[in-house]
Amino acid sequence: MLACVKCGCENADTARTCASCTWPFSIEGWRQTSFKIQRLTIDTGCVNAKRQDPDLNKLETWAAQGWLRIERASVLLKELRGEKRRNKAKEIDPHPGLFTLGVSMLGGGDVLAGPDIPATLKGILFPTVRNLTKRQENDIEHLRAHVQVGGDVFVTKNTSDFIKNGKQQQLARIGIWVFQPTELVSLLRRPHKRTIQYARLRNQKRGHSSFTRHDHAVCQ
Ligand SMILES: [Zn+2]
Repeated sequence: MLACVKCGCENADTARTCASCTWPFSIEGWRQTSFKIQRLTIDTGCVNAKRQDPDLNKLETWAAQGWLRIERASVLLKELRGEKRRNKAKEIDPHPGLFTLGVSMLGGGDVLAGPDIPATLKGILFPTVRNLTKRQENDIEHLRAHVQVGGDVFVTKNTSDFIKNGKQQQLARIGIWVFQPTELVSLLRRPHKRTIQYARLRNQKRGHSSFTRHDHAVCQ
């Protein structure tokens, strides 16, 4: 059974999307979901201090236009070196707080907690490592926090720790979406523009789409 990271409902192992909330567990599932990619968590290597990465520039432009929200986990500032990069990172919105009954205010920005699954993440990211390095621990903490605050996509350039050797697919299988900046820009580009046009017709109502070009081709 697959426990949905968005709503906690159990799903069949073969499910493409969550039967309850429609969150995708497969690339094909993006055709059937009502979710849009809105909240990104960026990895330490994606702090775009010099603005020389065209894909990160594009994501930041979309964020500035209000189509996406870029967030950072608290571990990012702990991990980051270099004053310029740290200053840039401080401009990025921190993850929202987790809603606590009797403490959080309704509408105050705190979010309901998603699953807290460090052991599952360790098993996917570093299945054979007995003694994690500090960097590996930070990787797990980054993704753990992303899942717990209900982020939509984790953006990283660290392919060996998050993407390669089937890690990206294994994470997607449990509903955790990790992309390199260039993959995410491709994912959003065409339908994103379409969404912008659609949204403009709808009086600037916010909206995002979430198909890859590949998916888009599959759709058609
Ligand atoms: Zn669900």
